[in-house]
Amino acid sequence: MRKKIAAGNWKMYKNFEEAIELATSFANSEIPEDVTVILGVPFVYLKSVAVITAANKRIFISAQNSHDKNEGAYTGEVSPVMLKSMEIPFVILGHSERREYYNESPELLKLKVRAALDNGLKVIFCVGEPLLIRKAGNHEQYVKEQLKISISELSGDDMKNIVIAYEPIWAIGTGETATPEQAQEMHKMIRSYLNETFGQFVAKETSILYGGSVKPSNAREIFGQEDVDGGLVGGASLDFDSFYEIINAF
Ligand code: PEP
Repeated sequence: MRKKIAAGNWKMYKNFEEAIELATSFANSEIPEDVTVILGVPFVYLKSVAVITAANKRIFISAQNSHDKNEGAYTGEVSPVMLKSMEIPFVILGHSERREYYNESPELLKLKVRAALDNGLKVIFCVGEPLLIRKAGNHEQYVKEQLKISISELSGDDMKNIVIAYEPIWAIGTGETATPEQAQEMHKMIRSYLNETFGQFVAKETSILYGGSVKPSNAREIFGQEDVDGGLVGGASLDFDSFYEIINAF
């Protein structure tokens, strides 16, 4: 059975005190037994948030990026070996903000995914098209290409540690959400790509999350789509009440 996942992406928000307060609220909250909550936390707070939430077995911590190399002279970077050594289970890779502002290409992301998996991390791998591609009607092809370049050479075993997040760029942080039908259409396409590439088992078992202005008011309808297994949530994950409602929207 595919996991139902509510993943929050805190991006570069919250000071330390605020991060601890938010983590404490989630740690003390009751989370439905069939829902996995993942908190995507800035590097500097990872360990503190992991310690605070450790007692709540439904909560897992994720980094928001990791390097493609295990170590080296790369000032300011964080490697998957470092995350592993801190027992951080997840990393978000391929977020559109990383692709756009830090020039992360599908080829580089292929290396990052490999390095993360080789270090035992689970990867939330993000794909999604910009507005112009959507308007030109090339969104399916575009997303398929992202998947093809970065993950098509993984093994079936590797895929057990991959969660895919479909995040149309035009819906991230814009308040504009894909309609449930648009989300379902793309998730179905991604699942059929997984079927063609890795076979039926992987296609059936891989969780595919939707991301792009998920809020308490639209989560239920989006999560209700057949091929949507949860959400990757930015803005609405920064507030306990909103994200808690989203967690309970399955
Ligand atoms: C995200 O950061 O992945 C995201 C989907 O952001 P938002 O929910 O704010 O659109």
